[in-house]
Amino acid sequence: MKRNDFIKTSSLAIAGTILNPLVSCLPKKSKEPEQVTLLERRNWGRNIIFKAKNLEEPSSVEELQELMSKVGFKKGLGSTHSYNDIADSPLTQISLRKLNKIISIDESNSTVTIEGGIKYEELAPQLHERGFALANLASLPQVTVAGACATGTHGSGTENGSLATVVREMEICLADGQLLNLSREINPDIFDGLVVNLGGLGVITRLVLEIQPTYDARQDIYLDLPLENVIGNFDEIMSSGYSVCLFTKWQNDILDQAWIKRRVDQPVVDLGSEFFGGRLCDRNIHPIIDMSAEACTDQMGKVGPWYDRLPHFRINAMPSAFDELQSEFFVPIEHAGEAIRAIAKLGDKFLPYLYISEIRTIAADNLWMSQFYKRDTVAIHFTWKSNWPEVQKLLPLIEAALAPFSIRPHWGKLYTINKKTIQESYERFPDFLQLLKTYDPDGRFRNAYLNRIIYT
Ligand SMILES: Cc1cc2nc3c(=O)[nH]c(=O)nc-3n(C[C@H](O)[C@H](O)[C@H](O)COP(=O)(O)OP(=O)(O)OC[C@H]3O[C@@H](n4cnc5c(N)ncnc54)[C@H](O)[C@@H]3O)c2cc1C
Repeated sequence: MKRNDFIKTSSLAIAGTILNPLVSCLPKKSKEPEQVTLLERRNWGRNIIFKAKNLEEPSSVEELQELMSKVGFKKGLGSTHSYNDIADSPLTQISLRKLNKIISIDESNSTVTIEGGIKYEELAPQLHERGFALANLASLPQVTVAGACATGTHGSGTENGSLATVVREMEICLADGQLLNLSREINPDIFDGLVVNLGGLGVITRLVLEIQPTYDARQDIYLDLPLENVIGNFDEIMSSGYSVCLFTKWQNDILDQAWIKRRVDQPVVDLGSEFFGGRLCDRNIHPIIDMSAEACTDQMGKVGPWYDRLPHFRINAMPSAFDELQSEFFVPIEHAGEAIRAIAKLGDKFLPYLYISEIRTIAADNLWMSQFYKRDTVAIHFTWKSNWPEVQKLLPLIEAALAPFSIRPHWGKLYTINKKTIQESYERFPDFLQLLKTYDPDGRFRNAYLNRIIYT
């Protein structure tokens, strides 16, 4: 089903519930699809119906400031790509989609200043045109920079930090409309607590990001690597490119695809036709092998700009399967082998409900609420079919299998780990809570998610 048809035929469901989009998208018999009114707003994945009664879209920071002082409960909204209710509000969601410009580029300091609603797909081509690039991108460019940084969104690469690690300055509009400017240089004691903020501090109106000279990249894919080869040579495999991602359905002790993304401004060695038991792929493919590769960035070693190679999905294309749910869990990289083995044992249980899993690596950082805080990390991601009742049963199995390795979940995806476990896994959690209480003393940016996971 195409996305437009899917949206047109979506019908009413229970507000504020994570639900099965397949059930909720059945056409209503009494009306033609084009007559059906969308009575609820949902996230991109269509598994969450937002409870917020209002959606505000200010066209200037001044308009936002005025609005902020008028509304009670509120929350910044990005491109709605999170799979849980982190971006919801009991009353008003505020989208900065109209504030999506590059404000300036400072060549001498290697920074770009951007408005709070810009998406990577809007930012990246403009940066490239002007001779600049970002260090890394996620699997898709369609998300906002502010939303991605708020949840610790990441790409891959043993030397690459999450997307939030390049933030140098932020402007936050607080609940009373006051603008607060904070920077790594001037506020070194708290800045690390502000960037991965779960949307709890205020609405981010401006960000300053580190940039670098633009570069080209290529990606090469190898198929069917024996699992034990991958586990036995994990560091070497994950360091064989600037960004390396492995995809698997956890069947037959095989890692189905290794996507090796390399910058061509750095030495590129010939990896040959065989790579740790896998064979070089001779066509463009989708991570979900049965899907058309049309939406995917070019492969087979074809060189192109960084923003059209580091993500798996192209700008202006439908990323992933759309009709899906996502979960992702993080453990310290030293446990990569044991963690992968523990998940592989559950493979047959996942099979009916799993589109694909992805394994990536992320470098440690110092951001208090980052899933990569002080630890080089391996990420194990699951793209599920839209069957929440079954996925809900599988998540505790995964979480239990990874528990011995000090697991952290992705803030913007689906998980069932409890508040206590989460809070205990973040050393600086009490300091973050204090920041929330300082900048949002009346709890205007609180929502069900923050009440469930963060507020004590
Ligand atoms: C197909 C798909 C692929 C994905 N791939 C990856 C991946 O490769 N790596 C990865 O780590 N994640 C990935 N994700 C998850 C996604 O990157 C995160 O959920 C991210 O937060 C989404 O950004 P968004 O702009 O949609 O933010 P939203 O989901 O709209 O919001 C997320 C959080 O940011 C806050 N927020 C947004 N804008 C503002 C603002 N201006 N001011 C204050 N707070 C704000 C919200 O309040 C909320 O707390 C993927 C998701 C999808 C659907």
